[in-house]
Amino acid sequence: MPIYEYQCSDCGDAFEKLIRFSDPNQDTPGCPTCQSNNTHKKLSAIAAIHIGNQSGAASSSCGTSGPFR
Ligand SMILES: [Zn+2]
Repeated sequence: MPIYEYQCSDCGDAFEKLIRFSDPNQDTPGCPTCQSNNTHKKLSAIAAIHIGNQSGAASSSCGTSGPFR
């Protein structure tokens, strides 16, 4: 399980959070210092963020040619 670094925008405190792959909603954990949710992930060691974040390739990825069944 990877450990991501987060930084709080309110108090500026940086902390580490262990993220499980089964918890995609654990994107923005609260700040352990001031309990604020105004935190953001630091882009220190995340190189794969540019790969899965390309816009324009989302509509043609599904190969279904019929209506929903
Ligand atoms: Zn904080």
